[in-house]
Amino acid sequence: MNRVRLLVFNAALGALDYRVPEGMRVEPGSVVLAPLGPRQITGIVWEEERLPANDVPDSKLRPLLELMPVPPLSAPLRRLVEWTADYYCAPMSAVARMVISSGGALNGPATMTEYRLSGGMPERMTPQRELAMAALEGEQATIRELAGIAGVSEGVLRGLVGQGAIEPVTVAIDRPFEPADPDHDLPELSPDQREVADRLVEAVRARKFAPFLLDGVTGSGKTETYFEPVAESIRQGRQVLVLLPEIALTENFLKRFEHRFGAPPVLWHSSLKSTERRRAWRAISEGTAQVVVGARSALFLPYRYLGLIVVDEAHEVSFKQDDGVRYNARDVSVMRARFEGFPVVLASATPALESLQMAESGIYEKLDLPSRFGGAELPSIDTVDLTEEKPGSGRWLAPRLVEALEDRLAKGEQSLLFLNRRGFAPLTLCRNCGFRFKCPNCSAWLVEHRLSQRLACHHCGHETTPPATCPECGEPDCLVACGPGVERIADEVAELFPEARVAIATSDTLNSPERAAQFIAEAEAGAIDIIVGTQLVTKGFHFPELTLVGVVDADLGLEGGDLRAGERTYQQVAQVAGRAGRGSKPGEVLIQTRHPTAAVIAALAEGDRDAFYEAETEARRMVGAPPFGRWAAIIISAEDDKEAREAANRLGDSRPNEDDLMILGPAPAPLALLRGRYRYRFLVNARRSVELQKIIMRWIGTQNFAPGVRVGVDIDPYSF
Ligand code: ADP
Ligand code: ZN
Repeated sequence: MNRVRLLVFNAALGALDYRVPEGMRVEPGSVVLAPLGPRQITGIVWEEERLPANDVPDSKLRPLLELMPVPPLSAPLRRLVEWTADYYCAPMSAVARMVISSGGALNGPATMTEYRLSGGMPERMTPQRELAMAALEGEQATIRELAGIAGVSEGVLRGLVGQGAIEPVTVAIDRPFEPADPDHDLPELSPDQREVADRLVEAVRARKFAPFLLDGVTGSGKTETYFEPVAESIRQGRQVLVLLPEIALTENFLKRFEHRFGAPPVLWHSSLKSTERRRAWRAISEGTAQVVVGARSALFLPYRYLGLIVVDEAHEVSFKQDDGVRYNARDVSVMRARFEGFPVVLASATPALESLQMAESGIYEKLDLPSRFGGAELPSIDTVDLTEEKPGSGRWLAPRLVEALEDRLAKGEQSLLFLNRRGFAPLTLCRNCGFRFKCPNCSAWLVEHRLSQRLACHHCGHETTPPATCPECGEPDCLVACGPGVERIADEVAELFPEARVAIATSDTLNSPERAAQFIAEAEAGAIDIIVGTQLVTKGFHFPELTLVGVVDADLGLEGGDLRAGERTYQQVAQVAGRAGRGSKPGEVLIQTRHPTAAVIAALAEGDRDAFYEAETEARRMVGAPPFGRWAAIIISAEDDKEAREAANRLGDSRPNEDDLMILGPAPAPLALLRGRYRYRFLVNARRSVELQKIIMRWIGTQNFAPGVRVGVDIDPYSF
């Protein structure tokens, strides 16, 4: 009797046992199709003893249906799934789902059908058809994806297919990717870069676990440097994963990659089309995808011969996933490298304190690039004290910053104004009755987006059109915008300098690879005088003509008393400052603030990174924050406020009484209402040595929560 236990992608089902039919050969890691009631489910054969047992007798077992034609998940990858589930208090099934994040690709056909405009016209034109056809210019995807792009139903598109205006195209999933040539265009590295690159190449050759912190100032050429171990991996026939924090950064990266290796890498991110996704997944699992560049979700894919991971801008928040499995891709990368035995490189100009600490204690090897490539100087940084140098009324830019902008315009140089706020104004109210526009689903104000004429919630995506009259008192034309967003700053700039070419760079305006590419091309060519942008433009970009960076409000991130506020502000401002003066002309940075003497701001102005990290280290030590102690958050939520509150209170009543453990709460979470759910939060603080996860899981396990109540655990929460 050959009995196997499957890990399936539904936590509620637990582990399921099956019989292996005659002639089917499975092993741990095999991906199989199994019957479940009238349905079929995908599962992964797992070591029996690592999954909860079930008591179905042998005689009742149903046979597996099919063995998927993909390589079995390796033992180290299965250990990674288990480790991630344990560490982040998440179900193994949810982690495993990220490995098989393209289920349909497994036994899917070798070709798929996509659709595109045929050039012909439908016999009968309707407004909807017209709309759809206009939106689908140049697009090719599945019917479902096209319906999403055009904002019409699939039925409308099927109608157009029926009338020949949209035609099918057969796409081969097994098309190989163009090979990258490790010696396509060998760079000339500076002596510093050479030393670091050689060390990393040596580590790739050694094929052993080796974690590195590549600590290089902005513009030091970290990318060119880590391309060398990437090249070595390609030579050795091993796969490489480069994690980038933002798709918007990929364009710039792709250009440089192609330049160096003569072919594009394989991309992985959430907006891939299903055909691209399947093609990439297969090539990754078969080992033919040499270099994969992706967002954090690329980390869990089943690479067959992975030999190196690079996490670029490793300090970035976006490596932390904030729903589902709440993991930090930076930390899981290191674990994957450890389980599979290869080097991992965390690259940053402003490493997280945790990473620096790991380097200091000798766990990570630190590699430094202390100066900019090609003799460019780091920019000069100065603060503008907004309590003394006041912007004009209804304005946000202080006179000194305006003069500096004027000066750059006169010289034909580029400027960047940074404000980490999308839209026109963060708050809109009625000047007659004081009514404030609030999101119905979240405890957050609606943000006015004047370009798209919308009031939008940045948390749940809720949107409305700004009304002509106040919904409260009925007063017409009464809406006032409070506070600045990037659109408002762009307006101010346009009023001050009508002749200037201004571009807004946010996730609203650079929302596709094409638009990002166009923006980069224009900015590099000097066709933009003033860029107004959010954190999207703080990193990765290299615009040679950019000589002035203005930080519109450095205090923004410091409000709210968040434990990581200081570090985040430091990183953001240092990164955006790093955009200035990367070419031959020196850069200048002006930081507008009401608190020029605050530790973070002073350290930035003096360019004294060590002073900042020392102060931050001390502050963390005092409150037992990482790396000295550990924090976890537990969020209890429900659609009904009372239900959520009572569940949280009950959990609070059964809190564990352990030494070395401090539990705060329950209290309303920072966003007390989010996407229609009321949220209460516990914060748990523990010494490093405490088995925090076990205690939390045991504690939560004491409760029977009502079906409408959700419990989320966030280990090492990013902000709290
Ligand atoms: P960082 O990521 O460290 O801020 P980049 O990798 O963006 O720095 O490098 C800054 C600029 O210098 C880029 O335009 C890059 O192409 C260039 N550069 C860096 N190293 C070299 C090199 N060895 N040869 C040629 N150009 C280089
Ligand atoms: Zn909302």
